[in-house]
Amino acid sequence: MTDTNTPTYRPQTELVRGGLARSAFAETSEALYMTSGYVYETAEAAEAAFKGKDPRYIYSRYGNPTVGMFEERLRLLEGAEACRATSSGMAAVFASLMCQLKAGDRVVASRALFGSCHYIVTEILPRYGVVTTLVDGTDLDQWRDALKPGAKAVFLETPSNPTLEIIDLPAVCDLAHEADATVVVDNVFASPLLQKPLELGADVVVYSATKHIDGQGRCLGGAILASEAFVKDNLVPFMRHTGPSLSPFNAWLLLKGLETLDLRVTRHCQNAFDVASHLETRNGIIRTLYPTLASHPQRALVEKQMSDGGSVVSFELDGGKDRAFRFLNALKLIDISNNLGDSKSLITHPATTTHQRLSQEDRDHLGIGDGLVRLHVGLEDAEDVKDDLTRALAA
Ligand SMILES: *Cc1c(COP(=O)(O)O)cnc(C)c1O
Repeated sequence: MTDTNTPTYRPQTELVRGGLARSAFAETSEALYMTSGYVYETAEAAEAAFKGKDPRYIYSRYGNPTVGMFEERLRLLEGAEACRATSSGMAAVFASLMCQLKAGDRVVASRALFGSCHYIVTEILPRYGVVTTLVDGTDLDQWRDALKPGAKAVFLETPSNPTLEIIDLPAVCDLAHEADATVVVDNVFASPLLQKPLELGADVVVYSATKHIDGQGRCLGGAILASEAFVKDNLVPFMRHTGPSLSPFNAWLLLKGLETLDLRVTRHCQNAFDVASHLETRNGIIRTLYPTLASHPQRALVEKQMSDGGSVVSFELDGGKDRAFRFLNALKLIDISNNLGDSKSLITHPATTTHQRLSQEDRDHLGIGDGLVRLHVGLEDAEDVKDDLTRALAA
C-alpha cells in the first residue's frame, strides 16, 4: 500500500522509487511476490475481505504486491488516477474496450492500427454487435463525420505503425467528447515519456509494456491507465472475472525496466534521429519517415504533442519487395524481428509480416508499400547501426 504522506517527486525519481512498498525484511530492491493466494488470520477476516471491508490482497487475479508496485510506479509517471496491469499489450487493448462496450454501441477507430488492434475492432467486436467505423486518423473531417452522437468509444494510435502518422489528439478528443465518447489511446510508439495523452484530453491510455517499458526483449506485459471511476466501474469488474492478469515475475521485470526507461528512451530517440538523418542522405531510399525530421509532413503537430520522436524510423527502398528483402538479408548487426522497444536494433518488412493480413487495397491506402521497412533503433552505438545500413544498402 502506498504512503499518501510522501512528497511528490519529479518523473525520473518516481521511475526509480515510485510505488516501492518494502516488506518487513527492509529489502532495497522491490520484492518479487510469487504467490497466487493469501491467507487470513481468522474466518472473520476472510469474510470481511470478501465483503470489501478490509482492502487487502485476496487472490493474485485481483491484485498482487509486486504487480501493485508496477501499477503504482507507472500511474505516477503517467499522472493518471488509476492503473491496472495486464498480461500483454493486447490484453490491455481488449480489456479497455470490452469493459465499456455492449451490443449496439459504436466504436470509431483510426485505420492505421497495430495488426491485432485492427483485428479486435474490425473482426471481434462486430461479432458481439458492436459497430466499428474506421477513419483516416489525420483527416479531422472524417472524425467529425464519424463522431456523431451514438459513438461510444474512440480507439487510436499515434504515431501510427509503421508510417508514423500523427493524429491531432486535442482535436479528436474534443470531437469525441462532444459526442460523449470515451477516447482510448494506444501510446506504445511514444512511450509514457514522450507523449501524455491524458493531458491532451484522452480518457484511457493503454500500453504494451513488452516494448520500451521492459525494453530488453524479456517478457510480455501491458497496462491501462484511466480515471478512478473508469477503473472501478468498468475495468476492475471485467478484469477480475476474465483474468488477463500480469504475472508477478513479469511485473518485477517491468518495474526494473521503468527504473531505466528515461535513460533508454532518451538514447533511443538520439540514435533514431541520427539514423533517420543519415538515411535521408542515402541514394536508393524514396522517403524516410521519422516524427522530428524537418521533412515529416506533420512536423508542427509533432512539436505540439510530442517531446521527441521515439525509436522507430520507417523508410521506403526503391525497388519493391526484392530490393527490401535483399537489403534485410544483407544486414549483419540489425536483427530481422517484428518486435520493437528492445535495446537491440530490430527491422521488419511490414507488408509481409505485421501487416500481411491487410488487403493490398488497405496497405496501399495506408502507404505500406512493398519497399517499406520499419526499423526500431536500439541502444548500440549509432555509428555501427548506420554503418550496417550503409553496407546493406550497397549490397
Ligand atoms: C506491440 C503492440 C501492441 C501489442 O502488445 P503485446 O504486448 O505484443 O500484446 C499493441 N499496440 C502497439 C502499437 C504495439 O506496438
